[in-house]
Amino acid sequence: MKVLVINAGSSSLKYQFFESDTGEVLAKGGAERIALDDSTITHTRLGEEKISIDVDLPDHKEAMEQVLAMLTDPEHGVIHSMMEIDAVGHRVVHGGEKFSGSALITPSVKAAIRVCIPLAPLHNPPNLTGIEACEAAMPGVPQVAVFDTAFHQTMKPKAYMYALPYALYEEFRIRRYGFHGTSHRYVAERAAEMLGRPLEELKIVTCHLGNGSSIAAVKNGKCMDTSMGLTPLAGICMGTRCGDIDPAIVTFLMEKEGLDMKGIDALMNKKSGVLGVSGVSSDFRDLEDAAAHGNDRARLAMDIFCYQCRKYIGAYAAAMGGVDAVVFTAGIGENNSNVRRDSIRGLEFLGLAIDDSANDGLRGVAMDLSAPGSTAKVLIIPTNEELAIARETQKIVSVAANPEG
Ligand code: ADP
Repeated sequence: MKVLVINAGSSSLKYQFFESDTGEVLAKGGAERIALDDSTITHTRLGEEKISIDVDLPDHKEAMEQVLAMLTDPEHGVIHSMMEIDAVGHRVVHGGEKFSGSALITPSVKAAIRVCIPLAPLHNPPNLTGIEACEAAMPGVPQVAVFDTAFHQTMKPKAYMYALPYALYEEFRIRRYGFHGTSHRYVAERAAEMLGRPLEELKIVTCHLGNGSSIAAVKNGKCMDTSMGLTPLAGICMGTRCGDIDPAIVTFLMEKEGLDMKGIDALMNKKSGVLGVSGVSSDFRDLEDAAAHGNDRARLAMDIFCYQCRKYIGAYAAAMGGVDAVVFTAGIGENNSNVRRDSIRGLEFLGLAIDDSANDGLRGVAMDLSAPGSTAKVLIIPTNEELAIARETQKIVSVAANPEG
């Protein structure tokens, strides 16, 4: 099945076009700076150089039409006509409590995504715009929403409730939702394959460490707990986000610094995390460079990050009653050997230990880093959210076409 995967942001629209049976990426690219000056379309065909074209993109619909024009372009395209696109899978950030799995998009699914806008005001509106642009550009092609929150819907109330007045949950649905669910699920499934054991028997801690980072406890294939919360600001500290802090700091700072709601929101989301502590960068490559040149705050920022990772791994091992594997994924998890080493250091009592030469070895491939004899495994598994979305889309469309199975 040929599946187009769309990840629509406020001014961008990224795509990957899959042969979902084989997982082959036929083409990928995106539209950038939609509705802004200097907008561009980029496009890379399997095994070829990336091309980039300056083009006027007044809105997401035009961007979608330009992407389709690229896919069907006689010179650069990969299909002869749009009719060859069997389905479109959309990344949707927030599905609230309504979606515990992916959904074929219908007017009522779109309405439910709209209801979740207050929970993800920066993400759900462009996700909906991307869906509507596809509907307009490809009428009749089935579309599927794959939610970042869905995998975490198996958490029990004791894991997802905050100790706030219960009426606030009833009125506003304030609770932990968790994000990066497509990635946590994908790497947990790959981990079971690597270990050659059924996912339903395993206790896995999945560490998705990128600009945004979250950690999940996956017990018997189901998410039991995760570090992000109502929003993706919670959990371990990140590139520019503060992660878990004493909530009283919010009102303290609003008073002392004269910050309004927007000001405190920007401080916690954009000026904090390892950037805020180091004053150097949100990028771990820059932090490692700076630390190597004697910058103590860059070192401190990375130490805080790894210490928090280690505490979450320990907490989730406690929550699950043990741990069979810890998985590292995403930009930092896949590439930064120091973060992996320092996050696992001291967890020998859980049977976790890293083989240093394996840890410093290859990048970008699935690998077992465990020291010989360690009872629990430490794995690197490159995430592939787009492929996971393509496979989900294929599954949902096939079930919808043949409900009897
Ligand atoms: P996002 O959450 O935006 O998808 P990524 O998963 O790309 O972020 O992670 C970005 C982080 O990963 C940066 O801190 C960067 O230092 C690190 N990173 C990404 N690629 C590499 C690489 N090839 N080598 C070292 N670090 C990398």
